[in-house]
Amino acid sequence: MDKTSDFSAMSAEERRSYIAQTAGLSQKQQSLLCQEGGLSLEAADSMIDNVIGTYSLPIGVVRGLVVNGKEYLVPMVCEEPWVVSCAEKGAELAARCGGFHATYTGSIMISQIQLTKISNPRTACLKVLEHKQEILELANQADPILVSLGGGAFDVEAKPLDTEVGGMVIVQLLVDTKDAMGANAVNTMAEKAAPLLSKITGGKSYLRILSNLAVHRLARVGVSVSCDVLGGEEVVDGILTAHAFAYHDPFRACTSNKGTMNGASPVACATGNDIRALEAGAHAYASRSGVYRPLTYWERSVSGDLEGMIELPMAVGIVGGTTKTHPMAGLLLSIMKVTSAAELGMVIAATGLAENLWTLRTLATGGLQAEFVPSLERRLEQ
Ligand code: NAD
Repeated sequence: MDKTSDFSAMSAEERRSYIAQTAGLSQKQQSLLCQEGGLSLEAADSMIDNVIGTYSLPIGVVRGLVVNGKEYLVPMVCEEPWVVSCAEKGAELAARCGGFHATYTGSIMISQIQLTKISNPRTACLKVLEHKQEILELANQADPILVSLGGGAFDVEAKPLDTEVGGMVIVQLLVDTKDAMGANAVNTMAEKAAPLLSKITGGKSYLRILSNLAVHRLARVGVSVSCDVLGGEEVVDGILTAHAFAYHDPFRACTSNKGTMNGASPVACATGNDIRALEAGAHAYASRSGVYRPLTYWERSVSGDLEGMIELPMAVGIVGGTTKTHPMAGLLLSIMKVTSAAELGMVIAATGLAENLWTLRTLATGGLQAEFVPSLERRLEQ
């Protein structure tokens, strides 16, 4: 079957065997894919508390998303009707113009330790920094596996906070969590380092937990789509006008970002990642200037083409958490053929940009309802 076959016109079984063949799935993996939901009650019971059952959602696949010259099959788990096809159409437009180009800043997470009842927070900060090596060594004792892989805590920051309940010092450990999302890893490090920090500062340690605002763990993706491929100058104008609306109006920016995360979050969900962490980081990052802005940025190149970019905190992993406890997550990761958290993060961000690209193109031309409702009605009638 060639790539141009109409994937959407196939039956779900035909699509499944196409993906099994394309991704080279083993017999065992194929039978897992056929087990709708793919999660036993026993496995579910080990994941969260008070389990009474499981809940299935559809898995869709975007074909032909090209990032840094590599073509991906991208699984998406979600309930909203046209999310997968928007991402696929955006990916197709981008692929016709060379695809997405992406970079990743590294898997650097921030772990925060709150020290309270400090009358001289600025002096206490200095003392913390004087003990940097000792603090790092202690924190790293909490995760010898991560350290053996070249990761672990590598820097310490300290900042004073003057609050209505008194002076505080917030110590931040910067931790390279490699291929893990890292929440458990960095929380454990914070707990390990807290008693030493209390001793150094004379403060009482309260909260010891990661920040989901992962500003040192960014996936950056760019794309250039030619004016002709998009459908002409008017379409480019429409997209830029829609973007300007979102850039200057938080009410529109919020919906624009919801649309962008329509692309990113279902891929995070499919791969067993923490969607709430990803969403919290994304929306906080969208407000980093003090004004809530769109996560994507669109502009016109000198040659009149459309250029777009996204910069997204990307706390996702391919080891640890649910990536391994949910068998379907492991299977979908192998369909994607990503081999690192960095690669997964760049694909997730690119899917978000693809989704936003097609959504804006649709809004700037006929509108979402006009494009998708007839096809949804046809599907419901069948
Ligand atoms: P984890 O503790 O299950 O796995 C991470 C560990 O795996 C590392 O600490 C390391 O020891 C080991 N490891 C093995 N191979 C590795 C490799 N190649 N790279 C990196 N580490 C490797 O999971 P985690 O990633 O620390 O935590 C993720 C989970 O924490 C998610 O399920 C998330 O939902 C949850 N969580 C999130 C929050 C939050 O976002 N606020 C808070 C608490 C927990």
